[in-house]
Amino acid sequence: RYFVDKPLAAGIAIIAGDEARHLVGVMRAKLGDEVVLFDGCGHEADATIEKTAKERVELRVETVRDVPREFASQLTLAVALPKGDRQKWLVEKLVELGCDALLPLETDRGVAQPVESAIERLKRGVLEASKQSGRALLMRIEAPASSDTLFSAATVHNQPCFIAHPGGCSLDQAWDQSSGNALFAIGPEGGFSDREVQLAEQAGFQKVSLGPTILRIETAAIAIAALRMLRSS
Ligand code: SAM
Repeated sequence: RYFVDKPLAAGIAIIAGDEARHLVGVMRAKLGDEVVLFDGCGHEADATIEKTAKERVELRVETVRDVPREFASQLTLAVALPKGDRQKWLVEKLVELGCDALLPLETDRGVAQPVESAIERLKRGVLEASKQSGRALLMRIEAPASSDTLFSAATVHNQPCFIAHPGGCSLDQAWDQSSGNALFAIGPEGGFSDREVQLAEQAGFQKVSLGPTILRIETAAIAIAALRMLRSS
């Protein structure tokens, strides 16, 4: 399954850059070989290789099909990202579980948020996980935001907004209220500060509990995405 960065249509499609290097250099693809292409905008196509070069492969596409593998609702997770490999793992699992957008969140007790190169790494992780999982749409990596910006007003996000913090309503109740579309904020290892929880509640975010135990950041994110998957399937 290879990614093309333009909407698929019948005719010639181009795979470029890392994707082309992988297809030609690692998979040793030859003229006439068939691969599946996806465009990250909801389409897939079977395609036949017509020309190869190290950084560019041309393929013939006959018919394009819509891929019905996305949920009707939109789930955004604003997360104080964990470090290193846990970050990569988080992205992979959220793509698999159908999360629509990940917003790196800068919090009072969090570590520094990703710089441009780290954001690019997250996006590469999205692509890898999409190829493997069959996602039709690429999970968006939003521009990092501070908790002050995120918690300025729930209405600016145009969807029900929740802050994961012990002592709130249950995740099931939150889901009942959101009727599908929702934004959830997940705090850093040290948790959200009292100031942030207060700011969020003043802005219209509702506190949601994820159970009686303390979950790591990535477990909290996966629990939310998994519940959404179960409730939407
Ligand atoms: N040191 C923090 C504490 O004891 O509260 C734990 C922070 S936890 C590792 C990271 C984030 O996951 C929290 O800020 C919260 O957003 C979310 N989280 C973890 N467990 C949770 C739970 N049981 N209920 C609600 N949110 C939870």
